[in-house]
Amino acid sequence: MEDKCKVIAIANQKGGVGKTTTAVNLGVALGFSGKRVLLIDTDPQGSLTKSCKIDNADADALDVTLSELMANEMTGEDKDYSLINKAIKQFENIDLIPANISLSGTETALFNCMSRESVLKRTIEPLKQKYDYILIDCMPSLGMMTINALVAADSVIIPCEPSFLSVKGLDLLLHSIAKVKRQINPNLKIDGVLMTMVDSRTVNAREITGALRDAMGNNINVFNIEIPRSVRATECPNVGESIFIHDPKGKVADAYAVLSKEVSGLERKAQVRSRPYGIR
Ligand code: ADP
Ligand code: MG
Repeated sequence: MEDKCKVIAIANQKGGVGKTTTAVNLGVALGFSGKRVLLIDTDPQGSLTKSCKIDNADADALDVTLSELMANEMTGEDKDYSLINKAIKQFENIDLIPANISLSGTETALFNCMSRESVLKRTIEPLKQKYDYILIDCMPSLGMMTINALVAADSVIIPCEPSFLSVKGLDLLLHSIAKVKRQINPNLKIDGVLMTMVDSRTVNAREITGALRDAMGNNINVFNIEIPRSVRATECPNVGESIFIHDPKGKVADAYAVLSKEVSGLERKAQVRSRPYGIR
């Protein structure tokens, strides 16, 4: 049987915690194991789009982006497949739907629209047959666009920096996730909290990571693999490359490769669990 497409939202309302970096590098790593991967930029800042240096074009000059696709969905007209195909760009071994500042207008438009929480879900529905993974890079807020991402998603990965404030901010995010799950998307799962930019030499980082693991306990998975801090990773958005091109032998590339195994392993475990009794 053909594997189902899994939609993963990469979310945290705090900025600068590694969401975009995780979307790009987890996506490329999943691509290496033969998975068909689509990244979706849902941040009007377009950091994902810019880090992927699409055709070297100015992100703000792109004519078809997520904003046009969602606007088309909101008007309730027939799906315009040619528009979807025009929006999809290539980056290394994966695909991407870009975003730019016009997406901030989309977020405002959502407020006056029917079923406003599920516009993104409906927008990406026809793409699910083409991909094994769709990774949604969220914007740093818990506004309507992030709610749309959580409604469209099967699961969430939460990148988190090992700082006191970052960990404290998780409460708010977990609350929003629980609310979406209760009211709109009962099957939404949390794949896990991913510690990013971890400087294992500092006692502080170790303490915070340890405290987080204790606090989350059995309720929420904290990925075993942690993403180390590295200067080479900081350079990636500027050169428009994934870490696998920019620093393939480095520790950050290794870590994202391991994460991709953990993520696809989660998938396999879920399939085994959902198999009806008696069938092997
Ligand atoms: P977010 O999408 O949550 O705002 P980003 O992925 O854009 O976060 O990361 C914020 C900044 O930190 C970027 O400049 C990025 O290059 C840098 N960064 C991300 N991951 C790492 C890492 N593992 N080591 C060093 N710098 C990183
Ligand atoms: Mg970002």
